[in-house]
Amino acid sequence: MKKISIILMIILSVIFAGLTGCSSEEKTSSEQNSSDEVQAIKDRGVLKVGVKVDVPNFGYKNPETGEIEGFEVDIAKAIAKKILGDENKIELQAVTAKTRGPLLDSGEVDMVVATFTITEERKKSYNFSESYYTDAVGLLVKKDSGIKSFKDLDGKTIGVAQSATSKTALQEEADKLGITVEFAEFASYPEINAALTSGRVDCFSVDGSILSGYVSDSTEILPDKFAPQDYGIASKKDNTALAKIIDDTIKELKSNGELDKLKEKWGLQ
Ligand code: GLU
Repeated sequence: MKKISIILMIILSVIFAGLTGCSSEEKTSSEQNSSDEVQAIKDRGVLKVGVKVDVPNFGYKNPETGEIEGFEVDIAKAIAKKILGDENKIELQAVTAKTRGPLLDSGEVDMVVATFTITEERKKSYNFSESYYTDAVGLLVKKDSGIKSFKDLDGKTIGVAQSATSKTALQEEADKLGITVEFAEFASYPEINAALTSGRVDCFSVDGSILSGYVSDSTEILPDKFAPQDYGIASKKDNTALAKIIDDTIKELKSNGELDKLKEKWGLQ
């Protein structure tokens, strides 16, 4: 009886060792491909990042220096440092709400740090890091329009960007208030701003951080803010190894207080 149980224990421990050995050493092919892609970034020696160039303090091309700078650029640098050991090994590419997804799909950029709101729908197509900033949708109107709150936009036309979350957020808010609004969609923010100036739209709406770059002497941002927008860093869905490095870096920047320091540096709360 004793002998049988000893033999049984030996057989079980052999099976167990076989199982654990297999799971820790053999990577699935998608894990392998994914870490190969991180290796490809290392071999290339530069991290390609999509950023905004028209959002002051986030991703903005400084007209005086010609350099793209901001909170999101600094976050991208921290990730370049993590992967390549040097924050300057970074190649920035200008993106818009419309182009950032396709540029990730085609592999022209490795990741996007560009006021990209994390949504359940988008998570089906891309990996998102945890959120590094939360903004809200705002409204920019002409000072002489008489529009003082979202309610005053009943029957009016709002200019929004294509592929942005703004239209859905505004429609939900309009439904809550029982007002009717029309939308006009544009490919870029300068186009929406021009439409506001010419009177083609009554309001320009997007996240407050983006709107702040377009306020002029004749326009103002209304106090109404809604639909919190959690920004995350997006990367290709199948590149899970890169997504993990990005997410770990954001977690680290949060826990060591660096993220707060960067927010302070760029005047963000
Ligand atoms: N953050 C919003 C979005 O991701 C607004 C668009 C933008 O980021 O340009 O849809």
